[in-house]
Amino acid sequence: MDLYEYQARELFAKYDVPVLDGIVASTPDEAAQAAEELLRNGELVVVKAQVKTGGRGKAGGVKLACSVDEAREKANEILGMDIKGHTVGKVLIAAGADITEEYYFSVLLDRSERRYLAMCSKEGGMEIEKLAVERPEALAKVPVDPQIGIDQAKAEEIVAEAGFGGELGAKIVPVIQKLWDVYTGEDATLVEVNPLVQTGSGEIIALDGKVTVDDNARFRQEGHCALVDKATENPLEAKAKALGLNYVKLDGGQVGIIGNGAGLVMSTLDVVAYAGEQYGVGPANFLDIGGGANATVMSNGLDVILNDDDVRSVFVNVFGGITACDEVANGIVKALEILGDEAKKPIVVRLDGNNVERGREILAQANHPLVTVVETMDGAAAKAAELAAK
Ligand code: GDP
Ligand code: MN
Repeated sequence: MDLYEYQARELFAKYDVPVLDGIVASTPDEAAQAAEELLRNGELVVVKAQVKTGGRGKAGGVKLACSVDEAREKANEILGMDIKGHTVGKVLIAAGADITEEYYFSVLLDRSERRYLAMCSKEGGMEIEKLAVERPEALAKVPVDPQIGIDQAKAEEIVAEAGFGGELGAKIVPVIQKLWDVYTGEDATLVEVNPLVQTGSGEIIALDGKVTVDDNARFRQEGHCALVDKATENPLEAKAKALGLNYVKLDGGQVGIIGNGAGLVMSTLDVVAYAGEQYGVGPANFLDIGGGANATVMSNGLDVILNDDDVRSVFVNVFGGITACDEVANGIVKALEILGDEAKKPIVVRLDGNNVERGREILAQANHPLVTVVETMDGAAAKAAELAAK
């Protein structure tokens, strides 16, 4: 899960990373009130769009304000703005910084190298991606051994690689170490600060923050549940999560997919993508109902998928193992009973494995008008794609 800047800043503060005060607002009046509070101790506030995408500054989503009225005005302009497809619902009113220089720092999970990667540059600010392409030598990339992490020696190496001299480097080192504490303490896969700034009084401050936390660590990061933004969550994914299903919505597809086992579902996505090519259709989702899938799990799965407006046909692809095909078939029949009139889209079923004959018999007896049984996986994918194209 990606976090909003204001959430990242809150985490930073928890780990003593230097940040400036900020208050979140959803209306211009709230923004004015926040500005009033912050302007008691400063001359400048920054009104910042809270959207989970970069480049807010360039898009006009970051604006300075010197008075309460100006803050209200800027908030009014920014709230509701569309930034790369994200609608701004909240702004952060942040204490303004007197910036003398902007730097860059990030640490992320480097899956291909099976370690972490720290990146640092003296030239932070708005366009780090461009810098990385045009002048890669200005962006230091330092591998981080997961067994050791970013200790003082590694932090010193990172700032030296980025070209920071003695005194300035020494001020950045502890900030980097604290950002590493955020990274490990919060089970993050990305912590990025752009810009990390030096102020007129020589302080180092994290002015912007981008943090991605690993959802697989949710079991030991109870606080992360509160960071979920219900308003922008995909409603189908939220529903599936509440039902305990392994569901991911995919963009641009029309064939709903249900299978048992992540590997089988992944290969089902492939065969459906292949079979759908000629019709311009493809898989609409990933849904693994896992082993031991009973009727309830099947009906929950079908319920989620049939409620996806993009879906025009469903492909249920099951290989019977511990859960035999007859149980799965009973599950499908019961699921269709439970769903009743709600089920309106054609369902192609391919069963194989344990008790397959019995399973097919059950489906044949039920003779449900929406269900077509196809023996092979490729054949079923072709049928599902054809139905989706109609
Ligand atoms: P991004 O464009 O989404 O990465 O948003 P940032 O939070 O990084 O802000 C973009 C730019 O706005 C920064 O690089 C700064 O130049 C400027 N900016 C942000 N906060 C302040 C501030 O407190 N004072 C000043 N003077 N400029 C700021
Ligand atoms: Mn930034």
